[in-house]
Parts: sequence; structure tokens; C-alpha cells
Amino acid sequence: MRACLLPYGRQRIEEDDIRAVVEALRGDFITTGPVVAEFERCFAERVAARYAVAVSSGTAALHAACFAAGIGPGDEAITTPLTFVATSNAVLYLGGRPVFGDIRSDTLNLDPALLASRVTPRTKAIIPVHFAGQPCDLAAIQAQARDRGLTIIEDAAHALGAEYQDRPIGSLSDLTVFSLHPVKHMTTGEGGVVTTNDEALAERLRRFRNHGLSVGSAERQARGLLYADMVDLGFNYRLTDFQCALGLSQLGRLDAILARRTAIAERYRSDLKDLPGLALPATGEGMRHAWHIFPVLIDLERLSVDRETVFAALRAENIGVVLHYVPAYWHSYYARLGFRRGLCPRAEAIAERILTLPIFPAMTDGDIDDVIVALRKVLAYYLR
Ligand SMILES: *Cc1c(COP(=O)(O)O)cnc(C)c1O
Repeated sequence: MRACLLPYGRQRIEEDDIRAVVEALRGDFITTGPVVAEFERCFAERVAARYAVAVSSGTAALHAACFAAGIGPGDEAITTPLTFVATSNAVLYLGGRPVFGDIRSDTLNLDPALLASRVTPRTKAIIPVHFAGQPCDLAAIQAQARDRGLTIIEDAAHALGAEYQDRPIGSLSDLTVFSLHPVKHMTTGEGGVVTTNDEALAERLRRFRNHGLSVGSAERQARGLLYADMVDLGFNYRLTDFQCALGLSQLGRLDAILARRTAIAERYRSDLKDLPGLALPATGEGMRHAWHIFPVLIDLERLSVDRETVFAALRAENIGVVLHYVPAYWHSYYARLGFRRGLCPRAEAIAERILTLPIFPAMTDGDIDDVIVALRKVLAYYLR
């Protein structure tokens, strides 16, 4: 067995990244300066969006996007339960109510066929999550949204570099949210980005990250304004110049990062596809999967134990498997708000058998072998 724990994901910082950050630190700006604007320009170009607004985290990006979409007290937004709590929390921050649609059991993404049953007169937005990095069925979601005038906010925290019908995720909906946390495709330490093609939405996003002030400090000084008027209740969600220097440097390696993630996923898919006791989520046609995580489904019918036992056995082999995710509304805070188990039976059934295997660009071929050997050993042991 492995000598040390293999994590499920981790950042990769190279000498170029360090040089870029040091250079930014030596510049005139520590926080909002020219590197923020340059990073936004390059990020927008990479995902083929007209505007990118950089903020201090993916969570801030979700909050800003929900604000820009006009979600307010009493409004509803439909999202998937199979996500990190930050997705639905963003709706709560604004006094809105998340409504959970169930997933498809094959792709694990939000099922567009169920959306109509979740819409009410209060519905403002749909927030699909591209689970694991595989794009949702956006055409079907757009068809549901268009008729009802709903805003689509894609949570693409898993999906930087993914494509839907040959078009990059980030350019396809009203608003798209990315995370730059160290486990994601590229990092700024903490950070997030919202992309949009709509100038008015971009302007609302920029204001929201800067206290709701009508102009930023550079423009206020350039125009000799006595003060900037506060027009919205915003936050300080700014990202710094030196973080954006790291972001620019990492963005330059995104293609290599995606290629390595895809190679690891292909190796897993070919070696694990017929392994008794295991199933793999379906991958759709006409998509480029970004492989932020590699989820597998434990076949509970074929095993004599539950997922928790498989999890513990793999951890004992020093394979850092993790759970993505318990349904968001199973958390006790959501239970206190009145959400009950049983809302989304498919997501709940998947959540009882899903595990995430390690996948990150710095993994060696030997690391991949270790995961496969450990899985074979553990599953063979517990097979009925
Ligand atoms: C990582 C993640 C977030 C939050 O991003 P942070 O940068 O950690 O705030 C939101 N949604 C999903 C699906 C994520 O994976």
C-alpha cells in the first residue's frame, strides 16, 4: 500500500507563478490595479465571454451573480441538491429560497425534464451546476427558462475549460460563475470570476464587489470626484493585483492542465469500466468534460458493506477519496429552514453510493496505479 495519503486534488504552483506574484508585489498596486483588469480581459477571452468580473471567491461570485440576476426576498431559484452548499447559500444570502430539482441518475446533472414541476410564480432563476466538470443539458434548460423569462446562472466551479456543443462554458448563459480555489483547475489562492455577455449585468457585478459604489477609486480620482455615490448594498469582494498575477500565470497553463486531467480520467475509465462492484457516471455526447473531479458509484447490490466501509477501507490504503456531496438540504441548517429528506429521491440515492477518486495534474502514473490497485483490492474483498 502507499506510504502517504494521496489527496483528491491539490494546486500546482510553478516558478513562473512565483515570479509573476513577486513582480506584482513590487508594483504600485497591492489590491485593485492593472493586473486585475488584464486578468479579467484574458479570462473573458479564454471562455469566449464579453465580460469577466473577478471577485474574492467562487462563493462571492455566486452571491454577486444572484444579486445581478435580481434575486431578492421571497424569490425562488431552482438548483441541484448534488452540489457544494455555496450554490444554494447564495440564494439565501439575498433572502431568496433555493428550490431543489432532482438530478438525472446517469449524468448526475440537474434533470431539465423536472424543472417545470419546480417553477412557481416566484421563480427568478435556474442555477445548474456542471457536476464534476460535465456540462448540463443547457439547450433543454434554456428552453425551460426562455418561455418563463428566467435568468440562468451556471455554477461552473467544476467546469473551467468545459465545452457544450463546441462552445466554451462561460459564454452561453446570462451569468456563469467560476471558482479559483486551490482544488479547482487554476487558482489565485482564493478567488472567483463571473462572466457575462451583458454590459448592464457586468456593471452590476462590478458595483456589487465594491460596496455598491457607482465608480471605483481609480475612476473617482481620475475624474476628480469628491466622493462616489453608493447605489446598491454591495460588499468588499475585490480580488487583489498579486492574486490576479497568479491567475494570469496559471491561466496560461490551462490547456496543459485540462489535457492531463483528461488523460487521468481516460485511464480510470478504461481500467475501471468493468470492475465488479463499481459503476461510472455516464458522459454525454457533444461535450468536453473538464474533469474537476472523478466520481464513481459503489454498486451496493453487489457488495456486502455500505459506502462508508468502502470509504474507510480506501482511506486506510492511503487513497484520499472524498464525498461530493451530501444533498445540500441534508445539512442541519437547511433542515432548520424546513427542508425535509425525500425531496429529491434520485440525488439522495446517488449520495449514498458516490465517492470521488483523486484527480489533479501533478498526479503521477504511479499514483493512478495505486488508486486502481487499492480499488480492486477493496471491492474484491467486499464482493458478495
Ligand atoms: C468550489 C465550489 C464553489 C465555491 O467556490 P469557493 O471559491 O470555494 O468559494 C461553489 N460551487 C461549487 C460547485 C464548487 O465546487
